[in-house]
Amino acid sequence: MSSTAFGQSTVLGYPRIGANRELKKAVESYWAGRIDATALHSVGRELRAGVWQQLRDARLDAIPSNTFSYYDHVLDTAVAVGAVPERFARLGLPELDTYFAMARGVDAEPALELTKWFATNYHYLVPEIDPGTVFVANPAKALGEYAEALELGISTRPVLVGPATFLLLAKGADPFARLDDLVEIYATILADLAAAGVEWVQLDEPAYVADRSPDEIDGLHRAYIRLGELAHRPRIFVATCFGDLGPALPVLLKTPVEAIGLDLVAGTGNLRELAAAGPLNGKTIVAGLVDGHNIWRTDLRAAAVDGATVTALADHVAVSTSCSLLHVPVDLSVETRLAPELHDRLAFARQKVDEVVLLGRALRDGTAHLPAPPASTPEAWHNAGVRDRLAGLTPAGRRRGDYETRAAAQQARLNLPELPTTTIGSFPQTGELRKARAELRAGSLDADGYDARMRAEVERVIRLQEEIGLDVLVHGEPERNDMVQYFGERLDGFAATDHGWVQSYGSRCVRPPVIYGDVARKAPMTVAWSAYAQSLTDKPVKGMLTGPVTILAWSFVRTDQPLPVTADQVALALRDETVDLERAGIRVIQVDEPALRETLPLRRAGQRAYLDWAVGAFRLATSGVADDTQIHTHLCYSEFGEVITAIDDLDADVTSIEASRSKMEILGDLAAVGYRRGVGPGVWDIHSPRVPSHGEVVSALTRAVAAVPARRLWVNPDCGLKTRAYPETEASLRLLVAAAAEIRGH
Ligand code: GLN
Ligand code: ZN
Repeated sequence: MSSTAFGQSTVLGYPRIGANRELKKAVESYWAGRIDATALHSVGRELRAGVWQQLRDARLDAIPSNTFSYYDHVLDTAVAVGAVPERFARLGLPELDTYFAMARGVDAEPALELTKWFATNYHYLVPEIDPGTVFVANPAKALGEYAEALELGISTRPVLVGPATFLLLAKGADPFARLDDLVEIYATILADLAAAGVEWVQLDEPAYVADRSPDEIDGLHRAYIRLGELAHRPRIFVATCFGDLGPALPVLLKTPVEAIGLDLVAGTGNLRELAAAGPLNGKTIVAGLVDGHNIWRTDLRAAAVDGATVTALADHVAVSTSCSLLHVPVDLSVETRLAPELHDRLAFARQKVDEVVLLGRALRDGTAHLPAPPASTPEAWHNAGVRDRLAGLTPAGRRRGDYETRAAAQQARLNLPELPTTTIGSFPQTGELRKARAELRAGSLDADGYDARMRAEVERVIRLQEEIGLDVLVHGEPERNDMVQYFGERLDGFAATDHGWVQSYGSRCVRPPVIYGDVARKAPMTVAWSAYAQSLTDKPVKGMLTGPVTILAWSFVRTDQPLPVTADQVALALRDETVDLERAGIRVIQVDEPALRETLPLRRAGQRAYLDWAVGAFRLATSGVADDTQIHTHLCYSEFGEVITAIDDLDADVTSIEASRSKMEILGDLAAVGYRRGVGPGVWDIHSPRVPSHGEVVSALTRAVAAVPARRLWVNPDCGLKTRAYPETEASLRLLVAAAAEIRGH
């Protein structure tokens, strides 16, 4: 084992997509067959070299490697331990294509499941581990990146997902039971890294900031005792992020690992735990003082105070980001169109590296040279009207009339058949729509021309739905680039970036808006589109809004006031929109909350308070309309077990929810908490182009009718159709309508 110190400043990871999304472009070109593997690898090599050199030039003295990925770092770790499921191995593809087959699926094999990475909007691929999985050490990627950096004169610290977290994120028959086997593979990898000259390795164990069973905590202990006792290994840095390590901290302190990373931004209890933990046994504490999950400049003086607290407790302290910088955009300096007062308050990945370096120096040399924090929020960002309205809110503002009365009034107005059919909002985003958007951006199409094309699309989508025979229609959302960005562009208090891309999964990047000031609606945002669509048909057209929780979850949110206050401000703006929609003759309004589950705090202790304000904001947004206006909500992207009571508390008249893959289990769960309003379990899994068979849809509906009275049951797909193409959309929707008619006839 080497005796090198850790260094003073580091980051847990860095964006890998490139300043201009070079990785996205290269990977997509490879998939399309426009470039070969050699060309793709050379783009990767350039991107990696660029990052290492930047970090070195910024004077970061502990630089990570193996944080690059062609798709996902959890998938990379699966490959590093040989956990390639047999169903992909047997395809006999070259290594890179096997990798992409696991990520994206091939005709014969669906991809690994994609799931949210803790409470972020990054998605990882879920490893499939079962009792038969044969682990094999395959450190080629980690070794390769280490050697590449060394060639540039940069000695790096390879990063892998740690063995315990890897298994806790996996699915299969009791993956965690395989921990001891897997740890032996990590032992081999560590020995190989040591033989190549690696001095430090970083093993990420963020799964331990959630509640863990004694058995799982014991596994963590066993794993790091075993890895610690290896004769030939690099020094081990166990990194955590996104919250409090809690009981896992004293456990890790009892292992021989040399460094432990704590998130001191999201993990507000970590300092206390550290003080209570007793002797730190000479370990380095890597203090995550710079927020890796949001884009605000760090108050360096306040962070230095926390840093000093850690210094008083530990012999060795290094400064780092709270989590990988994967979650923030690359570089603020290219954002030339942001207001100067906002620009001054922001820091993207590149700027956060400078903050870490400054803080590292301050812990050594004193804090004299640290810049002052930004002045308090400019007056112009406050909106007295919004604040007064919120201050004047009473509980009645979050309450609608009695449900049975509402239901009767709505039915009298809508006159819907049993098992009404509908969709979740968006229709396929066609090449023409994307072309129109590109032309608008390029200036070759003016706003009126763009509107005309969108209106033509709305009319086409309405006619199609009428012809298919759906009961509640949608306008199809052709005008929306993104369900959050669209509203961000129309609300006060939001700013858009030009280049602020963040990886969401694989080659998919998003550009979250920044909520910097009080949120207010300038003018109606969706009414003209919905009213136009309604003018084309006698059937009810559903208005379509994104809910307050989802808008917050997919934005960078201000930290100078509590989240619930910001959520309520967004809710008020949406409430005004629902009232205007109602006034324009819209009888059904859907408020989407697909991110409700995503931002649920990782520890149970914090979940209640979150759900209270999340539900409160939704109800504030939806309680301004009359009894006979029907409110729908839509939830997807997760397992809803943990938030099922909250779903009931939303008090929506109809809830459409992802269900086709879980075989309608959600209906039983909802019934168990006393949910008695309308529900539309998705009967077509829109995540795949596959058209379900008539039998499948009928049997899903038969199961559903057995669990829920037919008068409360809706028939709809799992989610919006924007990622689908027209052939499967039309075929599947016809099938849905036919199946509903068949069940009704029984
Ligand atoms: N109304 C949105 C759509 O149909 C909902 C999207 C979502 O749930 N993510 O696209
Ligand atoms: Zn959805």
